Amino acid sequence: MSAQNNQIYLTLNNGIQMPQFGLGVYSIPAGEMTYNSVMTALKCGYRHIDTAHAYQNESNVGQAIKDSGISRDSIWVTSKLWPNEYGEGKTLKAIDRMLGRLGLDYVDLVYFHQPIGDYVGGWKEMEQALEMGKVRSIGISNFDVNDSIFNSLVETARIKPQIMQIECHPYAQRKHWQEMVKKHNIKIECWFPLGGRDSKGEILRDSVINEIAKAHNKSAAQVIIRWHLQEGFSVIPGSTNPSHIRENIESLAFTLSDDEMKQIRSLDREARYFNMTYEDQKRWFGQWNPTD
Ligand code: NAD
Repeated sequence: MSAQNNQIYLTLNNGIQMPQFGLGVYSIPAGEMTYNSVMTALKCGYRHIDTAHAYQNESNVGQAIKDSGISRDSIWVTSKLWPNEYGEGKTLKAIDRMLGRLGLDYVDLVYFHQPIGDYVGGWKEMEQALEMGKVRSIGISNFDVNDSIFNSLVETARIKPQIMQIECHPYAQRKHWQEMVKKHNIKIECWFPLGGRDSKGEILRDSVINEIAKAHNKSAAQVIIRWHLQEGFSVIPGSTNPSHIRENIESLAFTLSDDEMKQIRSLDREARYFNMTYEDQKRWFGQWNPTD
């Protein structure tokens, strides 16, 4: 990780620098809630926003970016395509529609949201979109189902993904996937970095984390986010609460010791909060499609 302009950056395998910390807008209702959360974040210094076609709030993200007055090239915008948008003859058109919803000329990172459908065929058009300058980097999300699904894309891809977005937090540190991505110099970006809503704040109440937080006069959320950053993960905690949005970016400005990092690493129990089987994901995610 490297620091400049009050941000810290990860260098991806295509040489591009990505702000390591950002705001995730999953489950934030479209309209004012998304617009205001993104605007608050940008005003607090965030320079990375993570949305998705499936979240149905890309246009509000794009509008807030435009209205913020911050130059486009200093904000990192990520979005994700849904499985019904994968395939030769489909994916490039879907990226053009995404650009239209966001109101942007390019997206910094586009993910395949789920490993379902014709992701191998669609990836060829992700590679073309990269070469055409419509997107600056391409990634895979939730391809941690098993090694064979991960390899079926990564080992056949002409251009490897730069990043994989998966559930990852102190209680599920995904050690296997940390090793798998290393072989291809793919970075990890963590969703549910604080445990997500379904955790009901379980990790935020962890006694080890709270002891460390007390020692630094920081909150448990700040310690968890800082752990992600020092592990080399990109991290995109979600919130609509302006004081949480502000609190979370302050994680860029302190350091955990090696011993504190080790204590948090020891909390790993590979306990995920999202536990839908791949069969159920195929059934549910195949049935539902974004409407716009
Ligand atoms: P998260 O772990 O970031 O937790 C969000 C919860 O923590 C919310 O309830 C929020 O109110 C609370 N919170 C945030 N900051 C806090 C603070 N300082 N103190 C106390 N509570 C705080 O979970 P998330 O938002 O679901 O995940 C982060 C982002 O990851 C999403 O917004 C989305 O962009 C992405 N994501 C991607 C996938 C995927 O399938 N690729 C799935 C889920 C999420």
